[in-house]
Amino acid sequence: MTERRLEGVGATPTVGLGTARWYRPVDVTDLGEPPAPESVDTPAERERFETAQTEAAAEIEAERERTRERVGDSEAKVFDAHLQFLRDPQIEAGVDEALEDGLPAPHAVKAAFEGPIAQFEGMEGMMAERADDLRDIRDRLLRLLTDSGRTDLGDLPDNSVVLAELLTPSDTAQLDPDAIAGIATMKGGRTAHAAIIARSLGIPAVVGIGQALEAIEDKTEVVVDGEAGVVIADPDESTRTRAKESTQTSVIDESVSTSDGTEIEVAANLGTPAEAQPAVDQGADGVGLFRTEFLFQDRTEAPDETEQYEAYREVCETFSDCDEPRIVVRTLDVGGDKPIDYLDLDPEENGFLGARGIRLSLDEHAELFESQLRALLRVAATTAGAGLAVMFPLVSTVEELEAALAVVDSVADELESENIEYAIPELGVMVETPASTYLADAFAERVDFLSIGTNDLTQYIQSAQRDLDRMSDYQDPLAPAVLRAVDRTVQAGHAGGAWVGMCGEMAGDPELTELLVGLGLDELSMSAVTVPDVKNAIRETDTEAAEELAESVLAVDTLAEVQELL
Ligand code: PEP
Ligand code: MG
Repeated sequence: MTERRLEGVGATPTVGLGTARWYRPVDVTDLGEPPAPESVDTPAERERFETAQTEAAAEIEAERERTRERVGDSEAKVFDAHLQFLRDPQIEAGVDEALEDGLPAPHAVKAAFEGPIAQFEGMEGMMAERADDLRDIRDRLLRLLTDSGRTDLGDLPDNSVVLAELLTPSDTAQLDPDAIAGIATMKGGRTAHAAIIARSLGIPAVVGIGQALEAIEDKTEVVVDGEAGVVIADPDESTRTRAKESTQTSVIDESVSTSDGTEIEVAANLGTPAEAQPAVDQGADGVGLFRTEFLFQDRTEAPDETEQYEAYREVCETFSDCDEPRIVVRTLDVGGDKPIDYLDLDPEENGFLGARGIRLSLDEHAELFESQLRALLRVAATTAGAGLAVMFPLVSTVEELEAALAVVDSVADELESENIEYAIPELGVMVETPASTYLADAFAERVDFLSIGTNDLTQYIQSAQRDLDRMSDYQDPLAPAVLRAVDRTVQAGHAGGAWVGMCGEMAGDPELTELLVGLGLDELSMSAVTVPDVKNAIRETDTEAAEELAESVLAVDTLAEVQELL
């Protein structure tokens, strides 16, 4: 049998080989025609709805706990959002109205969710994916109201590749990463909560494959290649061997150098403290980007200083057995594609070109910035916090940087006057705006390090919003304009005496390691799953050859030529 390849979007950059098992939940929305209104006992139906709502809340809470234990606090917070949606006044009013119109509880629930689901579906990017969360809640209520059974995803045979039209966050949270070889879904995007949970669990995943996935029958052997974004059914011998090899990249626990002895730090990007141990297990030297906004999202109020202190200290402690680990914590980076409900951010004013990142920290959310810095300076004074470093997101002027540094000083003075122990950690700036690449020399004179965020940098240099699929041709960090911006940042950073790292997605692609070494980066930070591949790639790199490659890549003018050279 010849192998069949299906293209999708890679959600976890790992490869898995296993046996296809279709997950087809019963379509609980297929309710048939409602009975005549006069035959419906409305008070009884209202009670039925309320009971289902209470049972649903109990289920969601149990799933939240399970996810918190197995994945992490921040991923578990999606279920807090589900609890909020479950009792959303607009939806409750919709149910009430439909009940008053004489519909029985299941039909009323279905009707009440229709409008809000359509509303989210009509939005762009991450907001569109919130429609999946709403469907998840609606279907949970309908399942409880109609007594439909639930397929147990937590009990699949070892080495299963789960195929589904779509997995909800609650489906994904049930999966046992040790038993599951991969996930392939017809629908869904990379930033959907289900994909984020799969990534944190390290399960190879390809989403958004479309109708074509239906052609793969149950029990077929499949490779899920989350790196290439393809699913291969009935793989031939060479594909199978390659898949097995890529599932077995050896973890390197010590720091690595190129073949001629240049040491490059390989660190992990984290969203939650729970991701720290898996990063240590993959051999990360430290953390190059801890995205603290995840601590603030999917809840009703900001975490206080104590909660933050515990979270940052936990990450530092998890790495304390590593050799002088550096833990780079980024201060709150909200706005753009990172909304926070309780901050009431306006999508227009706080969009990608509006008040986001450091701009909010220096202005209307100065209080959050201060409490975050207090927690960080306190952690820096602990033994585990010796390697702590703090960096500021989306800086585009020297004035902003100086203002941020002044807040660090004033927070230090405050702690001093309160007799609370603190230390000033290493300080750095993210280079992710075109302006910051031109000011890299001025930044480098004022801080210890720069870290290039190629996700935003590519978006701004190429003028192509990062969450718009239609702009994907522009979103390649290999575009000559982006590479030249990276080059000038590294040169200027070094000239100003700062070390320069990269924490955008580009840093985690082992195929680009040689180029990045050639461009002179001192540190690369990435999803933990790609750490072993990048460490292996560094060991195989010769600095002089890498520099020649970088030079030739910087000399060409088109993306096609860059790709050709690589
Ligand atoms: C970046 O922009 O490259 C980056 C690492 O930050 P984030 O993806 O969190 O915006
Ligand atoms: Mg960014």
